[in-house]
Amino acid sequence: MSQSEATSAPVPVLPAPTRVEAERWVAGVVAGGAFAPGQAESLGRALRDASIRAVLAEGALAIKRSQTADRVTVSRNIFIPLTNLCRNRCSYCTFAKLPDSPEAHTYSLDEVEEVVRGGVATGCIEALMCLGDKPEVAYGSYREDLEKRGYSSTTDLIYEACRRAVSLGMLPHTNAGILSREELVRLRPVNASMGLMLETTSVRLRQKGGPHFHAPDKEPATRIRMHEIAGELKIPFTSGMLLGIGENDAERVDTLQTIARHAARYGHIQEAIIQPFHPKPGTKMRAASPLEDDVVVGWVALARLILPPVVHVQAPPNLGSNMLPRLLAAGVDDWGGVSPVTVDFINPEAPWPALRQLREETEAAGFELRERGPVYPEFILEKPDFFDPQVRVLLPNHANDEGYAQRRNDQSNEEAA
Ligand code: SF4
Repeated sequence: MSQSEATSAPVPVLPAPTRVEAERWVAGVVAGGAFAPGQAESLGRALRDASIRAVLAEGALAIKRSQTADRVTVSRNIFIPLTNLCRNRCSYCTFAKLPDSPEAHTYSLDEVEEVVRGGVATGCIEALMCLGDKPEVAYGSYREDLEKRGYSSTTDLIYEACRRAVSLGMLPHTNAGILSREELVRLRPVNASMGLMLETTSVRLRQKGGPHFHAPDKEPATRIRMHEIAGELKIPFTSGMLLGIGENDAERVDTLQTIARHAARYGHIQEAIIQPFHPKPGTKMRAASPLEDDVVVGWVALARLILPPVVHVQAPPNLGSNMLPRLLAAGVDDWGGVSPVTVDFINPEAPWPALRQLREETEAAGFELRERGPVYPEFILEKPDFFDPQVRVLLPNHANDEGYAQRRNDQSNEEAA
C-alpha cells in the first residue's frame, strides 16, 4: 500500500549500495523479480554516483529492449486546453488563470473545430483535451458562462469537444483532472484513452507551505481512487510522476510502486510519464532548483525497473532536449505527444522538437522512431474490451496491422513541424 493509502510495515533504510550490490539487485529485477523493501530507496539516494546510474540504466534498457526492442514511439497530436481556469492553485503552475485574467480562456466548439482541422491537415491522430480541474466549483462567473453555452458542467463541454474531434477524424485523449465514475463513464465512448498523472503520493506536499496546499484535487488518495475507477471501467490510462516539487526519494519510490500496483491489478495503465519540474517565473516556486539532469535520468531508469515491463515509460522531449540520448539509454521508450500545430500549454517556454529532428536524434542514438495514436499498439491489437464499441470501430481508421499510426490518404505524412 502507498503511504497515502494505509499504514504498512515501515520500509527499512538500507545503506548506500556498492556497485556490486546494485548490480545484484538490478539483475534480480531484470530477471523478472522486484526490488526487496528498501532497495529502490537506497538506489534513489545513490543516483548522484555515476557508477550506480550506469548499473540502473543498463538494467532499465535491458527491460525496455525485451518489450519494444529498438522501437521508440511518439504521438503526433494537437493540444486543446479547453479551459485554463482551475479550482486548484498549485505553487508551480502557470497554466491556470483566474477568471479576471486577460489570458483566461474557455474554448468554443468552433475554436475546437479550427484546431482539430489544423491537426487533421498535418497528419495528427490524437486530440489531447487537457484542462483545469472543475473550475465551476470555484468560480461563479465560469458557471454562468457554462450556462450561457448550454452546459451544466465542464464535462458537458469536454463531451461535446470530443464528439466534434471524433466527427472530424481524430481520436481524443482527455486529461481533465479529477473526474467521478459517472463522468468517466460518460466520456469513455468519446475517448480512445484518458489520463491523470498521479504526480506524487506525498501527503506532506498538501500541508501548509507545500506546493499542493491550495490544490484539493492533488490529494493522493483522491488521485489513487481515480486510477482504480479507470481500471474498473477498463479505460486505457496514462499516469505519471512529477519529479522535483519537494518530494523525497522514499516518496518517489512510493509513487512509482503505487502506479505499478494499479497497472498490475487492472492492466489499464499504458504509460507513465516521468516529468521533471521546471521552475517558472511568476510562480511561488520560481526560485526552486530543478533536479539535476543526472538525477532525472536516474529516476527514469528506476521507474523502468519498478514499473511492470508492459507499462511504457515516457519522457517529454521538450523538457529534456539536452539529454535525449541519455533518456533513451535509461529505458525511455516513448516521447509522448508532440504537436506540429499547438504549443505545450503547460510548459509554453519549452517548444516541441520538430518530428523530423526527433526522428533524427532518436535514430542517432540507435533507436527507431514509430508514430502511434493515443493508444499503444498492444491495446489496439490485444485488448478490444478496453474500448467502447463507438471507439473500437474507429481504431482501424488510424492504426496499421501492427497497431502503429496510419493516416488517411488525404492526411499529411510530412514531419516538418
Ligand atoms: S491542478 Fe493542474 S492546472 Fe490546476 S493549478 Fe494545479 S497544475 Fe495548474
